[in-house]
Amino acid sequence: MSVPIAETQADILVAGAGAAGLSAALALAQAGFFTVCVGHVDTRPNGRTVALFEASLRFYKALGVWPYFRGKTAPLAKITMLDATNARLPVPSLTFAASEIGLAAFGENVENNVLIEGLADIASASPNLLLREGMIGDIHFESDSVHASLADGSRISARLAVAADGRKSLLRTKAGIGTRTWTYPQIAFTALLAHAKPHRNISTEFHTRSGPCTLVPLRPAGGKPNRSSLVWLMSASDAEQRRALPQSALEQEIEDQIDSLLGKIEIDGPCGFFPMAGMSTNRLCGHRVALVGEAAHIFPPLAAQGLNLSLRDAAALVEVLEDARATGDDIGAAQTLKPYESSRRSDIFLRTNGVDILNRSLLTDFFPVDFLRGAGLLAFSAIGPLRRALMREGVLPHGALPRLMQEPAGNRLTRSSRALARP
Ligand SMILES: Cc1cc2nc3c(=O)[nH]c(=O)nc-3n(C[C@H](O)[C@H](O)[C@H](O)COP(=O)(O)OP(=O)(O)OC[C@H]3O[C@@H](n4cnc5c(N)ncnc54)[C@H](O)[C@@H]3O)c2cc1C
Repeated sequence: MSVPIAETQADILVAGAGAAGLSAALALAQAGFFTVCVGHVDTRPNGRTVALFEASLRFYKALGVWPYFRGKTAPLAKITMLDATNARLPVPSLTFAASEIGLAAFGENVENNVLIEGLADIASASPNLLLREGMIGDIHFESDSVHASLADGSRISARLAVAADGRKSLLRTKAGIGTRTWTYPQIAFTALLAHAKPHRNISTEFHTRSGPCTLVPLRPAGGKPNRSSLVWLMSASDAEQRRALPQSALEQEIEDQIDSLLGKIEIDGPCGFFPMAGMSTNRLCGHRVALVGEAAHIFPPLAAQGLNLSLRDAAALVEVLEDARATGDDIGAAQTLKPYESSRRSDIFLRTNGVDILNRSLLTDFFPVDFLRGAGLLAFSAIGPLRRALMREGVLPHGALPRLMQEPAGNRLTRSSRALARP
């Protein structure tokens, strides 16, 4: 006789325990939805960090999780862009200072594994939230509920499933949501670096013909006072060659590429090699499912936009579901999820296409493209209001920010908010 398998019942099932899934699950649970988050919490260091900008910091502060990360992040006070494309037309270098828009820093940089570990620890101790280790093997969307089975045979049912299961999202496929995918002839080489000279809280981007090579400040750790993360986009053949190099030779290549800006370089931990791709979806929701994070959008890591965009997905979704609950609507109904779709489309479109254009403009030496890139950078360097508008768009995107990312009432009249509001 077969023993019936118990089914855990939740308001919301979040598939995926990456940064987007854990963040969405925490926000949903805090909003009062009993949430089960299923996924494998991967805290292995992979040489990757994320720069979290002002809106994302507000989100984590509103959820009360930011104190956990105090002392584990480094502020980004300035961003410098240096042209290293050897374009025929001289392209000016450009520095953005957070102080120009009334902020002490654009955001904070943190190691991926530190972020995931912190979010998972907080999730494990959160009321209203069950973090289940494992992978969803199958899922069915029914008229009034969704039913998932895990590889270990256990089952979860919910009124809504949030797909935060990354680029190969099972939930997206099962919901019949179509995608458009493309690739770039680039690999992102990532590493954490210890170096001789201080970074002075400045992130530096060298724009090369194979894409940006970016240094982002990191906090001191392991007795090493000067640390940065590196994201270096290069061709597949260069990546293959560099992967085979002994560490000292690779360190020398990095030092040469960044003109010894930070003095002697030491690779501090494992490196990563990530093929670059793009993806957009034809919908962000369906019957009893909503997509967030890389299940919904993928683009290369230029200007540190990916997770920041994903957190705006999470914050917007929570708001739509809170509003639906307040009016007694079914949180999983396609009609209920429509405002989520409409509130996220333009932000996602703008970031995906903005990054695509910027990336492709570096890969070509076609003179008119170089000219436009140079003219654009010149305009940003010379025209203060334009430069400040671009900075604001990067850290606090235009349009209505979700409630969880709005400035707390007590801070609304500070100097920084006035500067942020000014053109
Ligand atoms: C080199 C690099 C640098 C970057 N730097 C920045 C930056 O500075 N700032 C920024 O904002 N963004 C940055 N990004 C982007 C950012 O890292 C990603 O947007 C973010 O990590 C995506 O998180 P995610 O949770 O959506 O996806 P993932 O991290 O891929 O998580 C998806 C999770 O779902 C799980 N999963 C898959 N299938 C299932 C299943 N069936 N059941 C359960 N779980 C499942 C996976 O195991 C995984 O844990 C960078 C990206 C790269 C590649």
